[in-house]
Amino acid sequence: MSAVMDEPIGRNVLIVDDEPMQRESLKQMIELSGYQVETADCGETAISMLRSYCFDLLILDLNMPGMGGFGVIDYVVEHQVPSKMVVVSGDANFDTAKEALQKGAYDFVKKPYAPDELLTTIGNAATKKALEDTNQNIRQKLSESENLHRFIVDHSPDIVFMLDTDGRFTFLNDTVYQSLGYNKTELIGRHYSQIVSGQSKKQARYVFTERRSDDRKSNNVELKLKCRDESEYRYFDTTSMAISLNQSDYGDEFRGTYGVARDVTEKKRAQELINFQAYHDLLTKLPNRRLMEDRLGIAITQAKRDKQNVAVMFLDLDRFKWVNDTMGHTMGDRLLQAVGQRLENTLRSGDTLARFGGDEFALVLPQIKRREDAAVIAEKVLGELKDPFKIDEHELYVSGSIGIAVYPEAGETMETLIQSADLAMYCVKDKGKNGYEFFNETMNEMSSARLTIERELRKALASDELRVCYQPQVNASTEEIVGFEALIRWQHGENGTIFPDEFIPVAEETGLILEIGNFVLETACADLAAWRKAGAENIRVSINCSAPQVSQDDFIDRIVQTLRKYDLPGSCLEVEITENIIMNDMSLVVQKLRKLTSLGIKIAIDDFGTGYSSLSYLQQFPINTLKIDKSFVGSIHVNDGGTSIVDAIVAMAHGLKLNLIAEGVETDSQLEYLKSLGCAEIQGWLFGKAESAETTSKILEDIQKGGRVRSVAAA
Ligand code: C2E
Ligand code: MG
Ligand code: MG
Repeated sequence: MSAVMDEPIGRNVLIVDDEPMQRESLKQMIELSGYQVETADCGETAISMLRSYCFDLLILDLNMPGMGGFGVIDYVVEHQVPSKMVVVSGDANFDTAKEALQKGAYDFVKKPYAPDELLTTIGNAATKKALEDTNQNIRQKLSESENLHRFIVDHSPDIVFMLDTDGRFTFLNDTVYQSLGYNKTELIGRHYSQIVSGQSKKQARYVFTERRSDDRKSNNVELKLKCRDESEYRYFDTTSMAISLNQSDYGDEFRGTYGVARDVTEKKRAQELINFQAYHDLLTKLPNRRLMEDRLGIAITQAKRDKQNVAVMFLDLDRFKWVNDTMGHTMGDRLLQAVGQRLENTLRSGDTLARFGGDEFALVLPQIKRREDAAVIAEKVLGELKDPFKIDEHELYVSGSIGIAVYPEAGETMETLIQSADLAMYCVKDKGKNGYEFFNETMNEMSSARLTIERELRKALASDELRVCYQPQVNASTEEIVGFEALIRWQHGENGTIFPDEFIPVAEETGLILEIGNFVLETACADLAAWRKAGAENIRVSINCSAPQVSQDDFIDRIVQTLRKYDLPGSCLEVEITENIIMNDMSLVVQKLRKLTSLGIKIAIDDFGTGYSSLSYLQQFPINTLKIDKSFVGSIHVNDGGTSIVDAIVAMAHGLKLNLIAEGVETDSQLEYLKSLGCAEIQGWLFGKAESAETTSKILEDIQKGGRVRSVAAA
């Protein structure tokens, strides 16, 4: 006996017969024909052998003691044993043969048999068995292959689908559930268009209903499909193919569409993000310079054709750098976002608001009729900035400077328009910020003059052309000198004396102010030390400090070191800052001012009344002195408004117990009026202009000898 798997199909035979002679002769005969033969002497033995081994053929006697041949047939049928049974029986009864065949025997051979007949029957049975085995084998392979394909289709990362001729789903794999959330059964029978988004419907119709053939049969298109959760969409790269039945006489008959849809949503979103980043400013999500230039280019082309105007505006936030320096970049970033948002809401849909970087925004207003339209929008933008920006517990005030260039008058190309708007914006900044200005030709000249100043100022610093001059400040009632304000002058080699208003703004913009500031501090302390040595011990010097200086990390250290270097007490120094420097609650600036006051150094608010601050706000800061701006002093007795502002400032300063200095006092009547209000100190040409250190030393000497300021300084 041998194991099932080792035997050739249709070749192993079990003879079941109780008669040993019969069995043996049959065995020999069959073996001679090339079969492998085993024998069993009764039904029971046969069944126990069938349990362990597989035989292709059974040669079965019917009449045996115990379990007969029918018992074996029943067993084989009942247990679906895949053996072919040939009954060899001495029972010649036709009914017996019929019964055996009915029960499942393959054939019946009557004993005594003719050997050839029996061998032919066995051969037929073996062939039949072999055929059946082959069939079975093929069926099994087919089923395995179908399972494999089904597995591959269902586990495909792509949606696989078929549509009928009307475009209804006839097949979908399981992936449709993972990708879009639909159970495939709920889509079968539904039209494809029900899951295609509006924008993709046209393409879908084109590829799914076109009946192409040959090489145009396959079609590729990107479709946006709806998820089951209707608020969501995903993108699919869809390849579809028309299914046709080959009918040679009439051409192909269209039977539907087969397709594969690959989910490319992530790739698409990544691409969209990259595109967005290329054309937008990531902080404010506004268009960036590139996109703005694209749109401006289009707007110019259109305006040229339609004989229209285009306005380009540059908007720079006036106090932004200072917010950034003093409150930190996070606060600065949030302010920019808030500004961007507020401005965007005020514009028309065709306008473009872009961020150029830093605190610079640009606007493109296509198809404006007249330049006045641009002025209206500029005013609207400035108006929008007026309300404070509330960020956390802070209220931030910003204003803007807007430069406007209108096509075609301010330039016919994109480059010149941008340049012109930029220049116009700088002019607004120069004139004191917070406003707008249209470009005009004189601005070009101013711009080159500005560049010249920058270049020459650098040279001036290197070649010692800067001087510090001193203007006396006197006690209003005694008219005795209490101090001097240090004011910078530029002794230009060719142009003579240049006054600070002409170069300080450029210096502030370019950062040169830091070097200038250090020079003034050093020089003023050196001069003051010399005067003190000469006997003027109670003299104080005021120095002007710009915003960039105050925001330097070493602002305090530098002052402390310089005072120490010249052995000066803090009380003989006053620092003048403008109210704008401390307008917002910048904890850093406040800290610095506190440090200065703790060293005995005085803090004065310069040009008071010209900025944005309110006195009640300033009250929170460690301030000693208010300097009433000379524009208010100048309007005393000229108009009622000016006088009442001076009255108000003096009254409030008294209320807050602040020292007051009136600047720009030129006449006795101004002096008398200020005195009558109780203004304590006076600075102005009435008591002398700013003079060089040498002249100031002489003035001090004269006064020590008993001279009066008015006659010696204002001489
Ligand atoms: P400021 O600090 O308000 O200085 C007062 C200005 O008024 C000075 O002009 C002074 O010469 C002028 N002035 C004084 N009395 C009279 C008067 O009776 N009538 C008239 N019409 N003017 C008078 P100056 O020296 O041209 O300085 C202009 C501005 O430049 C200063 O205004 C200050 O803001 C800035 N500045 C001057 N020196 C420095 C400096 O060293 N550093 C910084 N950061 N700024 C400076
Ligand atoms: Mg000053
Ligand atoms: Mg001033």
